[in-house]
Amino acid sequence: MFAIEVAGMSGAGVKRSNEVLKVSYDQLNSVMRNIGRSGARILRVTPIDGTQPVATPTTPPTPAPVTTPAASKPATAHAQVPVNLYKPKNPFVGTVTENYSLLQDGAIGRVNHITFNLEGGDPQLHYVEGQSIGIIPDGEDAKGKPHKLRLYSIASTRHGDDMADNTVSLCVRQLEYKNEAGEQIYGTCSTFLCDIEPGAKVKITGPVGKEMLLPEDEEANVIMLATGTGIAPMRTYLRRMFEAKEREANGWKFRGKAWLFMGAPKTANLLYDEDFLRYESEYPDNFRYTKAISREQQNPKGGRMYIQDRVTEYADEIFAMIEDPKTHVYMCGLRGMEPGIDEAMTAAAAAKGLDWAELRPQLKKAERWHVETY
Ligand SMILES: Cc1cc2nc3c(=O)[nH]c(=O)nc-3n(C[C@H](O)[C@H](O)[C@H](O)COP(=O)(O)OP(=O)(O)OC[C@H]3O[C@@H](n4cnc5c(N)ncnc54)[C@H](O)[C@@H]3O)c2cc1C
Repeated sequence: MFAIEVAGMSGAGVKRSNEVLKVSYDQLNSVMRNIGRSGARILRVTPIDGTQPVATPTTPPTPAPVTTPAASKPATAHAQVPVNLYKPKNPFVGTVTENYSLLQDGAIGRVNHITFNLEGGDPQLHYVEGQSIGIIPDGEDAKGKPHKLRLYSIASTRHGDDMADNTVSLCVRQLEYKNEAGEQIYGTCSTFLCDIEPGAKVKITGPVGKEMLLPEDEEANVIMLATGTGIAPMRTYLRRMFEAKEREANGWKFRGKAWLFMGAPKTANLLYDEDFLRYESEYPDNFRYTKAISREQQNPKGGRMYIQDRVTEYADEIFAMIEDPKTHVYMCGLRGMEPGIDEAMTAAAAAKGLDWAELRPQLKKAERWHVETY
């Protein structure tokens, strides 16, 4: 069970104070979507029984009238997107086929690309770009109970990295921090995944999520704001758009403009950088790749260069794109990135005489502003 704390719910024409809704895992997606549509705001999603908090989509404090023209439709009609084919009580057991580091020498931390074979399921576990899956790590928690699932954004397209239509890949950062006593702590599931060997069996649930689906319009424009492992969904979009084999298999020939803003602490921490550079050279009119490397680059004020500094730098071009109803914006990464982006967008909008606090809810309602942070 999960508790969803909501602000701005209304009933009988009266706005009510904050409320807490208790929902099961199965209902979570649809209830969160309905709250978003109602204009109420999700403050927090907390597990009642010890599962991790779930990404809270950014919803407007008060619904604003939609003046933004309707967006291009999502890639796959929402109703056709597979959801919860496998649930925590009856997970699919996949087999690890590869697990390798995505980092270069001198990088900070540990980030791995991990692939699972999904063959043999009934139903077959399938998914589309922009969804997540759940992983239930082996072992037990401190109370002796089986671990709860953790969600991970899918980093492969629906065809899988090998185009065989039967694998899923993830991009996982090992969580590590020092607790109050100064002890080094490593995350349970992220460590389980980063250490896992090919051949190992892993319990998988899902897929879940309809917040980050791609538009189906081949001429849509897609602005992507990613930090760290937030690159996972962006990698799937870019493969679908620009990998030759994908274009052939999909019959979907992207012709719009895609612009990736990627934030990382060091060059050695950039993820899938070589692929993105190749797309940039192969599709110079369609793909632009802008990096913010905080510990190596400086912003105009002499401080560290973060992704929001790049948003400020290119504000004019970003807003010119957003004015086009074919443009969608996707943001993914650690939750801490949101305030900085919001601040940059507020300043950039103000410079154009626009109010971001009004514009963002309109974009959200038009399904053109997609956020998944955790
Ligand atoms: C929709 C969604 C998509 C996600 N996609 C990805 C992805 O693509 N890649 C990825 O790597 N992760 C992703 N995550 C995060 C992932 O689900 C896990 O939360 C993450 O891997 C940590 O799990 P863990 O079991 O390793 O950590 P746990 O053992 O569960 O520890 C996490 C807990 O540690 C504590 N903690 C964490 N940091 C600190 C700190 N600095 N100081 C003190 N306490 C702290 C908090 O209590 C936190 O709840 C996603 C999350 C969501 C909701």
